[in-house]
Amino acid sequence: MEYQPVECAIVVNAAGAFSGKLAEMLGIGLGPKDSLAGIPVPVEPRKRYVYVVHCPDGPGLDTPFLIDYSGVYFRREGLGGNYISGASPEEVEEPDASNLEVDHQFFENKVWPKLADRVTSAWAGFYDYNTFDQNGIIGMHPLINNMYFATGFSGHGLQHSPAVGRAVAELILDGEFKTLDLRGFSFRRILTQEPMLEQNIV
Ligand SMILES: Cc1cc2nc3c(=O)[nH]c(=O)nc-3n(C[C@H](O)[C@H](O)[C@H](O)COP(=O)(O)OP(=O)(O)OC[C@H]3O[C@@H](n4cnc5c(N)ncnc54)[C@H](O)[C@@H]3O)c2cc1C
Repeated sequence: MEYQPVECAIVVNAAGAFSGKLAEMLGIGLGPKDSLAGIPVPVEPRKRYVYVVHCPDGPGLDTPFLIDYSGVYFRREGLGGNYISGASPEEVEEPDASNLEVDHQFFENKVWPKLADRVTSAWAGFYDYNTFDQNGIIGMHPLINNMYFATGFSGHGLQHSPAVGRAVAELILDGEFKTLDLRGFSFRRILTQEPMLEQNIV
């Protein structure tokens, strides 16, 4: 693919699973290993499968968002008797992220034993996976100070999105967080090697 330069005053890197790659286009992470410029944005695509289970006489509106201790989850999808389910693979079994093909065997081996019903369809998507601590990276890059980050949410970004949008707008317009102090999510923790690990995610 041929890229064209884009001139701008401020850029927000919210490229999801590909924000590490986008940062690399600015040289972030390509400098000497022992320098700030050598620290990459630790966000990469990780493939996750979602399986649609049809169960017309299931609990419907009474269905909670259920997450099993194993990490297998399911929740209702619409009102047509459909439910979506999935699980994250173990670190050692991470699937090839160069495509979005669905591994149906993963359902049989990992998800099915914890559930018990009929799959009607499935899809795969990329988690915006922060390999450092599986949490969002929010705010200005310490070297390129007109690039703001809003990325690396590692599979829980939908829940964060209203707050993150507002926080990044405040940073750009006011130069600081106003309503919520999200400084803990800054790139700084990667420099200082202080992970902010989130345990309760799937
Ligand atoms: C299977 C699956 C299940 C999930 N379940 C949940 C859930 O239950 N709850 C939850 O909170 N979150 C969930 N997530 C995670 C959630 O979807 C993400 O965290 C969230 O979408 C991240 O939002 P974003 O805006 O940062 O990135 P995205 O929504 O990924 O948007 C990034 C955008 O950047 C664009 N882009 C990429 N590269 C470039 C480039 N070079 N130039 C220009 N544009 C570019 C992309 O096209 C895309 O439009 C799930 C994700 C997956 C894959």
